[in-house]
Amino acid sequence: MNKIVFLDRDGTVNVEVDYLHKIEDFKFESEADKAIKIFNDLGYKVIIVTNQSGIARGYYTEEDLEKLHKYMDEQLKLLGAKVEKYYYCPHHPKGKIEKYAINCNCRKPELGMFIDAIREFDIDLENSIMVGDKISDLESAIRLGIKPILVETGHGKSEIDKAYFKVEIHKNLYEFANNLKTKNILG
Ligand SMILES: [Zn+2]
Repeated sequence: MNKIVFLDRDGTVNVEVDYLHKIEDFKFESEADKAIKIFNDLGYKVIIVTNQSGIARGYYTEEDLEKLHKYMDEQLKLLGAKVEKYYYCPHHPKGKIEKYAINCNCRKPELGMFIDAIREFDIDLENSIMVGDKISDLESAIRLGIKPILVETGHGKSEIDKAYFKVEIHKNLYEFANNLKTKNILG
């Protein structure tokens, strides 16, 4: 079985930019790329689960998104780090592009992307983790018995008060990764 670190993307892995879709606007949150390498080294597969309503809104296309993810992969490869797979939800009920303007079952906090990942990878949910900057990211995790971690980057700081369940809070992804590593070493 695989233990997974599920990661939200915007505000967690990369610096939050409204409807990010251009490579030149992409920037890892401080040392988030190194954090992914640490997860890999600790034996976790890393899966990104991201709401991308900008596609439904007509701001960018699935192809643009895939190009951006390919760029991320290239950057990560320089460190020997790897994202196993990117799952994204292109929908939004108020979208402008008809085929994406639906009430889907994949937009977090719905579980669709997680269910797809569970189908594709043999996942040890009990020993898996979800890191995000929004409570809605973590609601999915709670429903699946995955450990929720809130980071203070992106929208994180303003989300702390909204947590109605127990959640660990870390300054950013890199700090969390180091913490996990320390715990691992100490057993
Ligand atoms: Zn969706």
